[in-house]
Amino acid sequence: MTSSQASTPTVFDVQRIRADFPLLARRVHDKPLVYFDNANTSQKPLSVIEAVDNHYREHNANVARAVHQLGEEATAAYESARDRLARFLNAPSRNEVILTTGTTQSINLVAYSYALPQLKPGDSILTTVMEHHANIVPWQLVAARSGATVKAAPIDQRGELIVEKYVELLTPEVKLACVTHVSNVLGTVNPVREIARECRKRGIPLLVDGSQAAPHRPVDVQALGCDFYAVTGHKMLGPTGTGALWAKREHLEAMPPFFGGGEMIREVRFSGTTFAAPPHKFEAGTPNIAGFVGLSAAIDYYASVGFEAIHAWEQQLLHYATERLREVPGLRIIGEAAEKEPVISFLLEGAQATDLATLLDLQGVAVRSGHHCAHPLMQFYGVPATLRVSLAFYNTREEIDAFVVALLKVRKLLL
Ligand code: PLP
Repeated sequence: MTSSQASTPTVFDVQRIRADFPLLARRVHDKPLVYFDNANTSQKPLSVIEAVDNHYREHNANVARAVHQLGEEATAAYESARDRLARFLNAPSRNEVILTTGTTQSINLVAYSYALPQLKPGDSILTTVMEHHANIVPWQLVAARSGATVKAAPIDQRGELIVEKYVELLTPEVKLACVTHVSNVLGTVNPVREIARECRKRGIPLLVDGSQAAPHRPVDVQALGCDFYAVTGHKMLGPTGTGALWAKREHLEAMPPFFGGGEMIREVRFSGTTFAAPPHKFEAGTPNIAGFVGLSAAIDYYASVGFEAIHAWEQQLLHYATERLREVPGLRIIGEAAEKEPVISFLLEGAQATDLATLLDLQGVAVRSGHHCAHPLMQFYGVPATLRVSLAFYNTREEIDAFVVALLKVRKLLL
């Protein structure tokens, strides 16, 4: 047992968890892999990989079209992902959960189907400076078409949203307010309940980007009190190309469909087509059936470990990694909010983030460098890029130690 294992103050059996993730055993550039790019996409447990494999081996068919046995099995499996997502988000009804390709599609659906039909010149959409481009650009596109504008609430140097300013910006011409639950760059956890309360007082619907929250904490859309909540499957142990939008029934009923095609209709006539009820009204075409089978297994995996244990372990890792990084000379952490998920962005004096990431990769360490699809946030901090370490519950203190050793080594090469 190494000294850091001996001092681990928890019974969380991370080695048992790691055994469920085959890819974590890989070597990269002949070094043991240290995968710290979880905010980009998570690794997948065997149960997810096997569920997808088993679906194609045993149950593959299209959904909702065939009356044969396989068609029924595929439809049941696909629809059970909706049930699981509804429970995972504590949605009041499974019919309020639209299965999408991920957060980008979910937010675009709200932009084109909810916002665009009602926006007019003089209206605005409120977002924040710390958003991923997926929670900025769709709003800019529909604003450009309608003559509306996009406003951004400011943050402070610690990387916390200035909530009073957000609330001040909730003026009557705001038709939709948006906020990320957790920042993909800073790890900041935003006070979504409080924001939702202020939005409700003013009758302004709130969309929450939950991409970086759902992999780390239980989400309860009813307790949060928002109107729309988007998640992306590949960041939460599931396959790429899966995700969901939860929306209040009243919005879904009023929203026109976004994509037209098969599966979303009641009856098609050239004299006029009628549409299926939500959620199917928003799910035209053949979906990523196997992907959702995998996402179901991912949600089951989270349930088997439990978010309480996940959160406790990840917070230990976050604090340990933050402490260790503070020991590195010339290193500046960007984002020091009081409440964070395990994401640490930083700069190293005299070294480019991309050069660091490239050299770290040669040491077997996978981190992300760049603007993280958050240009306005980079502009706020006056930097072109950061290096980002993003942790998951299958990471260890030993990996953090190995990462710091590698960082000190590459720092020597660059400076
Ligand atoms: N929102 C946030 C906060 C993200 O971190 C990401 C992905 O990095 C997205 C949205 C976009 O997710 P996807 O590409 O899966 O649609």
